[in-house]
Amino acid sequence: MGWHSVASWTWDAQDETCGICRMAFDGCCPDCKLPGDDCPLIWGACNHAFHLHCILKWVNSQSAQAHCPMCRREWQFKE
Ligand SMILES: [Zn+2]
Ligand SMILES: [Zn+2]
Ligand SMILES: [Zn+2]
Repeated sequence: MGWHSVASWTWDAQDETCGICRMAFDGCCPDCKLPGDDCPLIWGACNHAFHLHCILKWVNSQSAQAHCPMCRREWQFKE
């Protein structure tokens, strides 16, 4: 199985760029012109963050269960 019960919160150690589009999280995805509420960040259950639009495109491009592009765990939206 693996590390399904990792106790520590590791967000601070993550990159500050989106792993899909490589744009900074304080910017927006390539499909948007302005950062902010129209291009929110979304976290997965694995604690990797992406632009919402990027991960939606990613998930939709997967034929079956989507996996996190960063860690290859099954992708589930957090909360
Ligand atoms: Zn992105
Ligand atoms: Zn966007
Ligand atoms: Zn991940």
